[in-house]
Amino acid sequence: MVIVMKEGVSQQEIDFVIEKLHSVGAEAHVSQGEFMTVIGAIGDRENLLQLPFEAYPGVSKVIPVMKAYKMVSREFKPELTSIRVGAVTVGPKTFTIIAGPCSVESEEQVLMAARAARAAGATLFRGGAFKPRTNPYAFQGLGEEGLAILATAREETGLPIVTEVLDVRDIELVYRYADVLQVGARNMQNFLLLKELGFVDKPVLLKRGMSSTIEEMLMAAEYIAKEGNGDIILCERGIRTFETATRNTLDLSAVPYAREMTHLPIIVDPSHATGRRDLIQPLCRASLAVGADGVMVEIHPNPSEALCDGPQSLPLEDFKLLVEDLRPLAEFFKREI
Ligand code: PEP
Ligand code: MN
Repeated sequence: MVIVMKEGVSQQEIDFVIEKLHSVGAEAHVSQGEFMTVIGAIGDRENLLQLPFEAYPGVSKVIPVMKAYKMVSREFKPELTSIRVGAVTVGPKTFTIIAGPCSVESEEQVLMAARAARAAGATLFRGGAFKPRTNPYAFQGLGEEGLAILATAREETGLPIVTEVLDVRDIELVYRYADVLQVGARNMQNFLLLKELGFVDKPVLLKRGMSSTIEEMLMAAEYIAKEGNGDIILCERGIRTFETATRNTLDLSAVPYAREMTHLPIIVDPSHATGRRDLIQPLCRASLAVGADGVMVEIHPNPSEALCDGPQSLPLEDFKLLVEDLRPLAEFFKREI
């Protein structure tokens, strides 16, 4: 349940409620906004119902949360969350552009892409070092060597690194190199991985499963938040439908819908959603318009030679044009690129 405190509530009154929650074995999560303080209570429902919260000083009202996810819900924290990654902020005031190749292929490829990403205005750099593919015989990524190449790119460009962690056993390794740990669509419901990432002190980029509902994505985020890591960026990356014109179907309505349900930032990945580079620009524009907090776009110095996802990767010069195109639109929507 969520306990909404009165305006101007004192610290003593907040502490009193927390103490009462602890007395019945419940957890208290305090969210202090500019105008409102709410205390999220997690614990046994029966025990919680015994407490007469509304009679306590400073309490305005009690809202029972029926949703399966709590900590990531808007009821729990009405104010939108901003996530810091080094000097970069992902949240409601910015339109974060994450760019990079699908997979790390070589130092030269990564450095070229990273330089171009930075020059154009991307603030985070992506690249996969672990690439399990639908076809087990296709290129599987460079592993730790790939992570080291990403770190070199960060050193040179200053761009923090977003890269995927596939398995609980790799968390420590990926953590050493990455600034943001990505959970791929195929792993969105790898609950053990999610839980372990809840203990990590770096942000997680959680991609929506290709056959997952928005609610399932939010419950997946709750797995991470529940263990203490609230720095979660959600990513709509297209879902499976009957349509075959595009690789997946970009569910743009997920962005404003999720915005009502959760305080977490939500970005869009038009590259994996469509599989087609010609659709990236219109869908980046649309993402901005529906209130996304950013986009993740695949780029490559030479897409026709890419080992992975060439058809959806933008050549570096096209990426520059894309960001130029988005700047005035971002300004219109009062977001900083
Ligand atoms: C990726 O972003 O590298 C990726 C593999 O995407 P997804 O998990 O959304 O398929
Ligand atoms: Mn890819």
